[in-house]
Amino acid sequence: MDSETLQKTYAIVPGLNMGLFAPQDLETILQVINKYDVPATKITSAQRLALLGMTEEELAALQTELKGYTRKTAVNGVHYVQACPGLKWCKYGVGESLTLGKKLEELSFAEPLKAKVKVGVSGCRMCCTEPYLRDVGIFATKKGWTLIFGGNGGGRPRIGDIIAKNLSDEEVLALVKKCLSVYQENNKPPSRTARFMERFGVDALKAKFLE
Ligand code: SF4
Repeated sequence: MDSETLQKTYAIVPGLNMGLFAPQDLETILQVINKYDVPATKITSAQRLALLGMTEEELAALQTELKGYTRKTAVNGVHYVQACPGLKWCKYGVGESLTLGKKLEELSFAEPLKAKVKVGVSGCRMCCTEPYLRDVGIFATKKGWTLIFGGNGGGRPRIGDIIAKNLSDEEVLALVKKCLSVYQENNKPPSRTARFMERFGVDALKAKFLE
């Protein structure tokens, strides 16, 4: 690799929450991509769009141009939410994953979460957003939502623990908040939920709900 190839470059990730965008959003972003001759564009595994390979000066200009597309997240909220098309748009869907995903994006906490919390919501048992490998994973059955906590798909993968089944929208949101509150209070030293659950254990987590 020559030194030119190794030059430090920057990326920007416009805010397409849950991978959703309107055609006019894409047109605006495309105009900016063409204007700055962005070297590479990519759909990320987090259902986001990344513009890659800019210089520091280009990055600043692009951030200004794409200010309206800053990712919208709640203050002290989760890192991101992935959601599949769900009941409204997929023939297998039995749960409104996009609607629930939006509510999860809006959850906020008294203090910043102690590490990244990634969320995956799927509208049926096929689990297209890999909820078993997310910090908070949720999928729908005909009886309601199943909540999984403490999964990770990184270098040390972990299948999350099933916390509860057959939940309504309100119940699953309340239980996500409870899981993350226990995580916040007991996560020492700070780590992702997967390592926390290895130390703390699913039984201890559930016992905390009864206190
Ligand atoms: S998880 Fe189910 S509802 Fe969602 S996209 Fe996959 S098959 Fe469709």
